[in-house]
Amino acid sequence: MGAAIACELSHFELTCALVEAGPDVGAGTSKANTALLHTGFDAKPGTLEARLVRRGHELLSAYAQRAGIPLAAIGAQLVAWDDEQLAAFPGIVERARANGYDSIRELNAEELYRLEPRLGPGARGALYVPDEGIVCPFTTPLAYATEAVLNGCELRRDTRVTGVEKRPGGGFDVLTTSGTFSTRYLVNAAGLRSDELNRLVGHDGFTVTPRRGELIVFDKLSRPLLNHIILAVPTGTTKGVLVSPTVFGNLILGPTAEDVERKDDASSTAAGLAYLRREGKRILPELLQHEVTAVYVGLRAATEHTDYQITIHAPEGYACVGGIRSTGLTASLAIAEHVRTELEAAGLQLRPKSEAASVRMPNIGELSPRPYEAGGRIVCFCERVTLGEIEATLRSSIPPVDLDGLRRRTRVLMGRCQGFYCGARVARLMEDGPQ
Ligand SMILES: Cc1cc2nc3c(=O)[nH]c(=O)nc-3n(C[C@H](O)[C@H](O)[C@H](O)COP(=O)(O)OP(=O)(O)OC[C@H]3O[C@@H](n4cnc5c(N)ncnc54)[C@H](O)[C@@H]3O)c2cc1C
Repeated sequence: MGAAIACELSHFELTCALVEAGPDVGAGTSKANTALLHTGFDAKPGTLEARLVRRGHELLSAYAQRAGIPLAAIGAQLVAWDDEQLAAFPGIVERARANGYDSIRELNAEELYRLEPRLGPGARGALYVPDEGIVCPFTTPLAYATEAVLNGCELRRDTRVTGVEKRPGGGFDVLTTSGTFSTRYLVNAAGLRSDELNRLVGHDGFTVTPRRGELIVFDKLSRPLLNHIILAVPTGTTKGVLVSPTVFGNLILGPTAEDVERKDDASSTAAGLAYLRREGKRILPELLQHEVTAVYVGLRAATEHTDYQITIHAPEGYACVGGIRSTGLTASLAIAEHVRTELEAAGLQLRPKSEAASVRMPNIGELSPRPYEAGGRIVCFCERVTLGEIEATLRSSIPPVDLDGLRRRTRVLMGRCQGFYCGARVARLMEDGPQ
């Protein structure tokens, strides 16, 4: 959210800084999600989330094409496995229509199995949602932050906000681990910590309870098993377990949904993974015959409310962008647009730059040609990452500071051997820095 908002604001004549506590951009919740581009068909009508997810789908689809972010609207099948779930279909269709989404349509079991012959037995039918998609969760925040930096926004990593003082004449002194920033306008996009930062500014109204989501990544050989995203009929508390292709050519299974106490508890659990495997076996039996490449965990910034917690305190010039639980990747650009418009209404002068820079990111997805196809020395054979890609990344506007950052920028170490083959060499390349 922070990177998207900085990107949006960097297109105007103003001085802007993006302050990130962690070592890198996009290394919080944004690096560990299901990476779906939602249409918002199932959102609660009338909520801010419903509006912003819908608009976000439109904005991110266009931006991804311009910025080279891997994205494909491969469509989803929301499958009913019993009478009760089948009976929920009319309500879901009605909700989709109320959200302005008319393309949803019902398929009977025969039609569904024709499109997805590997599905487990017992599916009763599906709702086909043609515009649901998959998107690269790593390139997206990096593209936003890179564009912001190219347009003069100062990026400070490893800089944690520790206090906020209101200045007598308006504005804020923002105290951080690397000095104080004075600013007229302040945006809080601190994810899991957005409630804590909100209190530092003197506001209240929501508390974040991390909701853990565990996911399993299956080997690329499993990819042909599926054509669409397979969604579950949502319950009141969760969207349920899904199986989805990724832009990297894997299949993922997940996520679980379990409230946890600690905001840094990104550990997987035996019970969570066993549950996912049971669900996976039921939904797509052959999936379980494939090897697991990785397991990861993301923490949703859930609150006691059912909507995003976005509030603009106009007189103060403070925007709180909290509680962006499970649709933030999709809604990111719409949230940025919303915050920009509201800040302008609150008095922020916005004069567009005569020439704003745009960004074109290196392609790390399998939806269009990758650099190795044109030649070059390969370092990571599992993911086919070339030396040239790694060197270019080390020279980029926001270079990685650790192996995790390099992984998210190139896919190196992300493959089936998890760095067993190239780990030492990649670590040496990181140490040597840009050549
Ligand atoms: C399991 C799971 C599945 C999901 N699936 C999807 C999906 O399929 N599609 C979709 O659209 N969305 C999905 N989401 C939601 C999406 O990932 C989030 O809404 C989004 O990443 C939230 O972004 P954010 O910027 O609010 O949080 P973050 O990415 O966590 O960023 C907040 C940043 O603030 C920094 N920070 C915190 N405190 C401070 C401080 N004091 N000072 C400075 N910096 C600070 C943190 O270091 C962090 O980098 C999913 C989420 C999860 C967990």
